[in-house]
Amino acid sequence: MVDKIDIAIVGRGLIGGITALALSKTGATIALIDKIKTEKLDSIGFDPRTSTVSKTSKRMLDVLGLWKDLDAFSNPILDIKVEEGGPKNSIIFSSDLVPGEPMSYVVENDKLREIIFKKIRKKTNTILFDNFELKTISHSPQGIELFPKKDVKISTNLLVGADGRNSAVRRLAGFKSKCRQYHQKAIVLIVKHSISQRNTARQLFFPPGPLAILPLKDNRSSIVWTMDIPTADKYLKLPPRNFIKELESRVGKSLGSISLSGEILSYQLDLQFAKNIVSPGISLVGDAARIIHPIAGQGLNLGLRDVAVLAEVVVDALRLGLDPGDLYSLRKYERWRSLDTAAMVASTDGINKLFSNKIPTLAFSRKFGLKLIDSSNLIKRFFMRQAIGELGTLPRLLRGEEL
Ligand SMILES: Cc1cc2nc3c(=O)[nH]c(=O)nc-3n(C[C@H](O)[C@H](O)[C@H](O)COP(=O)(O)OP(=O)(O)OC[C@H]3O[C@@H](n4cnc5c(N)ncnc54)[C@H](O)[C@@H]3O)c2cc1C
Repeated sequence: MVDKIDIAIVGRGLIGGITALALSKTGATIALIDKIKTEKLDSIGFDPRTSTVSKTSKRMLDVLGLWKDLDAFSNPILDIKVEEGGPKNSIIFSSDLVPGEPMSYVVENDKLREIIFKKIRKKTNTILFDNFELKTISHSPQGIELFPKKDVKISTNLLVGADGRNSAVRRLAGFKSKCRQYHQKAIVLIVKHSISQRNTARQLFFPPGPLAILPLKDNRSSIVWTMDIPTADKYLKLPPRNFIKELESRVGKSLGSISLSGEILSYQLDLQFAKNIVSPGISLVGDAARIIHPIAGQGLNLGLRDVAVLAEVVVDALRLGLDPGDLYSLRKYERWRSLDTAAMVASTDGINKLFSNKIPTLAFSRKFGLKLIDSSNLIKRFFMRQAIGELGTLPRLLRGEEL
């Protein structure tokens, strides 16, 4: 039976885990809760996806002491090549345009999770709960009360919803959200290939949707292939060897001979965003706050930027002797995150609409648009800085500074 906890975080995903690490430095007592059992959460293959982590996100992982263990498992991206209808109509976003560190890195989600939770388990002020599904919350003079199980009662001053797409915190706090189906699935797999991709990521646009090739170590690449649901379902029924043949027919000879490494997975895609992400003593982070199209590989990065800002306002509130759930501080978090979120929702949604269709007038706009972007380093730099997360005022963790 646990009673009073300073901060309760619901969701032991990547974002919930990193929120706990960032806030643990305050010395506050933290409960990190998930409905799934620990053995499953910790198992290899729990999340076999990869993520592109931008250089500002990497700085934050560095300050939190995670990057030193992750570095050996990450692969830098120096150039991004975007092709529409074949290699002739292509542009390159080269890191020379934004000098300094590589613009992003590809990391394996399972590895990142393992490193996060190894570190959390050493924190004496953080208690992990598993097999606890949050179903109700209530407000009391002691704070917000959670009753995940009959024999356990947690009351907290700050409840953080890091509980992903069907966030119970979002629903129970009464935050309204909008949702629109993309009628697309992302097919995700890792392949081994004979020709090295070095540090170049490629995004190939086809009418049913984009195909991303993200370079990993050891001549492997992560493939995120988005297409309309009927086409995806047809491909998912193919034996793996035939699926790889279909893939080869799209990527040409650029990867050499290709073989499957691991499973072929699929995710149905939608756009979701909560209109408000804070109320007294409650805040949302990561996919609980919004879900965007994976076209630009930015969902996790947006979540990390949420955590960087939330941790900063909470730390500043605690230093002033205020409550971690102080509404004025939480509203600052909500305002600070609104522009970045709106811009990323609009740009990922817009790019997907423009490129994932067969409408002839849009085909002209695509060709014209790519030529226009290619003609101006200024426009290219703007897009790159948005993806890196360098637009607007950066919180301390994203600048690579301690909280
Ligand atoms: C195909 C694909 C490719 C992607 N690629 C990239 C990429 O390259 N780069 C990038 O930045 N992003 C990428 N993303 C997005 C990224 O994966 C997500 O934004 C990120 O994983 C969200 O993490 P999270 O911790 O917020 O949520 P989740 O990982 O969904 O974690 C939520 C946790 O909350 C728990 N939970 C839920 N409800 C309850 C409850 N009621 N009680 C207790 N626990 C609960 C769940 O069990 C889960 O463990 C991609 C997404 C997809 C679909």
